[in-house]
Amino acid sequence: MLADSRAEAYAARCMVEETARRRDAGRNVTIEASCCKMFASEMVGRVADRAVQIHGGAGYMAEYGVERFYRDVRLFRIYEGTTQIQQLVIARNMLKEIAQE
Ligand SMILES: Cc1cc2nc3c(=O)[nH]c(=O)nc-3n(C[C@H](O)[C@H](O)[C@H](O)COP(=O)(O)OP(=O)(O)OC[C@H]3O[C@@H](n4cnc5c(N)ncnc54)[C@H](O)[C@@H]3O)c2cc1C
Repeated sequence: MLADSRAEAYAARCMVEETARRRDAGRNVTIEASCCKMFASEMVGRVADRAVQIHGGAGYMAEYGVERFYRDVRLFRIYEGTTQIQQLVIARNMLKEIAQE
């Protein structure tokens, strides 16, 4: 579970860094930025879920930081454009790109 979480966090970091690199180069990153937001938000939810599982019952109790982490990261899928809105942005721009080819 630790390895899965590390690998997924690394994937998200690579996505963000590559998207920033493209943006710095003056490219349009509408799709990539939404991919980053969607993937990282969903990813950190899986990471938090594993963290609770690793800690067992203690991970569920409010006395421990893991429970707070689990609750806090749930917000990422909702604000600054929900996951479903990121999916709309990605899919619509993919169709736009295809129409321009
Ligand atoms: C703690 C917190 C802090 C916030 N801070 C800010 C802030 O600083 N500034 C700010 O402007 N806003 C802020 N918000 C608001 C946040 O951006 C909105 O909650 C978010 O945009 C979702 O809007 P909504 O709550 O009206 O849900 P809705 O838009 O009603 O969405 C409800 C559900 O329907 C889905 N949905 C909606 N439309 C579609 C569609 N077309 N296709 C498929 N699914 C769809 C959504 O993905 C979601 O799952 C904050 C919210 C919270 C909880």
